[in-house]
Amino acid sequence: MSLTVALVGRPNVGKSTLFNRLVGQKIALVDDRPGVTRDRREAPAKLGDLDFILIDTAGLEDAADETLQGRMRAQTERAIADADISVFMVDARVGITPDDEHFARLIRQGGKPVVLVANKAEGRAAESGLLEAYSLGFGEAVAVSAEHGVGLPDLYEAVVATLGEKAALYLPKEETDEDDEDEAAEGTGEETRTLKPIRVAIVGQPNAGKSTLINRMIGEERLLTGPEAGITRDSIAVDWTWRGRPFRLIDTAGMRRKAKVIDKLEKLSVGDALRAIRFAEVVIIVIDATMPFEKQDLQIADLVAREGRALVLALNKWDEVRDPDGLRRELQADLSETLVQVRGVPLIPISALTGSGIDQLLEGVSRIYETWNRRVATAALNRWLDHLIARHPPPAVAGRRLKIKYLTQSKTRPPTFFLACSRPEALPEAYKRYVVNGLREDFDLKGVPIRLMTRGAK
Ligand code: GDP
Ligand code: GDP
Repeated sequence: MSLTVALVGRPNVGKSTLFNRLVGQKIALVDDRPGVTRDRREAPAKLGDLDFILIDTAGLEDAADETLQGRMRAQTERAIADADISVFMVDARVGITPDDEHFARLIRQGGKPVVLVANKAEGRAAESGLLEAYSLGFGEAVAVSAEHGVGLPDLYEAVVATLGEKAALYLPKEETDEDDEDEAAEGTGEETRTLKPIRVAIVGQPNAGKSTLINRMIGEERLLTGPEAGITRDSIAVDWTWRGRPFRLIDTAGMRRKAKVIDKLEKLSVGDALRAIRFAEVVIIVIDATMPFEKQDLQIADLVAREGRALVLALNKWDEVRDPDGLRRELQADLSETLVQVRGVPLIPISALTGSGIDQLLEGVSRIYETWNRRVATAALNRWLDHLIARHPPPAVAGRRLKIKYLTQSKTRPPTFFLACSRPEALPEAYKRYVVNGLREDFDLKGVPIRLMTRGAK
């Protein structure tokens, strides 16, 4: 059974734009699918690792045969009825209009779980609209920008949290420990056992040394002769092994500056980086250590964390650094303040030019990949949770103490935990951070983003 999601809201809030983004193909192709009616588009879509059928109710404004309101109403009602969950979209720039309220009533009557999304949320113009959206009575809105592809990880979390326990039905089964054990049990032996390649993306500022690093890691010849079939129009994947461990590298057009240099690609293209990050399991950000930490490096690191990928920072051109120890300390201190989402991220000095540090870099990638895949046993988690709560109990809110019941790891890649408590909506963000930081320290989950979701429990 696949999950079905209805995208509803008044015209012009950006439904088609989000639809296209989640479906990831040109609408014309979608419309060509047999069995898809003209006034309602539906297509397979993807958000993180969640696959679903997305129903879009956009484009109804062209309807000529009936009044707009009447037709939209019927369409919306049908879409909601057919869906497991509705994504209700409003325009954060415009704020809440009477039409939005009309849709809110329809959606409420539909009686399905709802995720409220405030679109066009890029920039300050959206702030008041975001607050206003709360008045619709569907809780806090998830801020996204469909056009710029911002906020999708938050949307993912909201959808998964709203699905609650049902989410497990739709999330992919994980290929971790159990699968490995099965393979081992079959007696295939270490040498014939095929490991899945670790998918790696290399991103960073122009001139940081990405091409040099790629050539150093996989060899110039390989890069020229060995590209696999395209992942997307603008990117290729290259496979290679290092010490018997297979890697797959995504190489986007923006990285292949030596090949076809277009002026625009010389600038750091966020679209390019994002594509690479989505493809990857581990992202290496290459930083020119002689001029470290451009704001954009931090933005990309933040993007990696939001997308739930594991991160490694390669400090390149280390051969030119005069005070290596000092610089390393300085960078580490900087990062512990700026990159709290992935506290403990590995910083690995390399010289792509001379090849020094490349082994350590790939070891770092392998290690963080393991961390990203790690599963903590429920019993251990809950023993740990008891201590954590004893040390620092959750606060009382409105005179009543919050009760935390248990903690489970719902998935890996990245490590994602569910915290069951008496009034999840009242649990302060600071307390969630306390739990996350504790998990990171005590279960050695350094350098990977950790997701914590809450759910109600009596
Ligand atoms: P629909 O009628 O709900 O399907 O809305 P569309 O997807 O056609 O979008 C309506 C308008 O809003 C178009 O001009 C889009 O380019 C614009 N739009 C969509 N998403 C965003 C966004 O995230 N930010 C901004 N600023 N504009 C957006
Ligand atoms: P990209 O734009 O990130 O792909 O960067 P390139 O790989 O083209 O490198 C930009 C410049 O930095 C080139 O002149 C490289 O020779 C130089 N470079 C790359 N890695 C190193 C390094 O480890 N040490 C030094 N000293 N120079 C490097």
